[in-house]
Amino acid sequence: MSDTATLPPAAVAGSLADTPAATLRLTEIFLSLQGETSRVGLPTVFVRLAGCPLRCRWCDTPYSFQGGETVALADLLRRIADYEVKTVCVTGGEPLAQRNCPALLTALCDAGYSVSLETSGALDIGGVDPRVSRIVDIKPPGSGEDARNRWENLAHLTPHDEIKFVLADRADYDWARALLRDRQLDRVCPVLFSPVQGELAPATLADWVLADRLPVRMQVQLHKILWGNAPGR
Ligand code: SF4
Repeated sequence: MSDTATLPPAAVAGSLADTPAATLRLTEIFLSLQGETSRVGLPTVFVRLAGCPLRCRWCDTPYSFQGGETVALADLLRRIADYEVKTVCVTGGEPLAQRNCPALLTALCDAGYSVSLETSGALDIGGVDPRVSRIVDIKPPGSGEDARNRWENLAHLTPHDEIKFVLADRADYDWARALLRDRQLDRVCPVLFSPVQGELAPATLADWVLADRLPVRMQVQLHKILWGNAPGR
């Protein structure tokens, strides 16, 4: 992506929403149940923006890496409104790789939506509107992208945000547990532990979390239990 430059602060991002030329590249938009985080189960409009500078080994959305429909921000807001659901999740890909993503987020907050952002943790979240609940990945070694973790992001997190680890094996779990304890991440915001589908059995991860009495929320992806890996669900 060429537009991973410094993100505009939220106040500026808000005014960008009124700029006719502001566009985003959209992979898909759909209504589903939120499958993860503390919002699990809530009917949610998902806005999947195209493009990602990372290549996690187990990525389940590689179809978002290229292409996408170019849409004006104002048109995208209208399409979101058509669903008549007030909870929106902006995801990817890596949504923050698009310079107009903060403007979209601020416009959604201004319109009264409850907004979450799913981000890889590799890009700066400092310019994201503080009304947005930021779901920030920390990439373990099994992802192949742990060198991309932007540790400065931790200083921006509030109890309104969430940290997510997606774990492929015991080595990933041990790595995440050490980080959790060393940095006392659970005192910052809720911490989510998820297994990589098809690689780490959910019950195995659950047993590890219980054995260690870890202050994390172990989660599975509700939408995949309901609908498998179908895009748009
Ligand atoms: S950051 Fe997300 S979209 Fe990008 S490669 Fe990793 S899992 Fe896939």
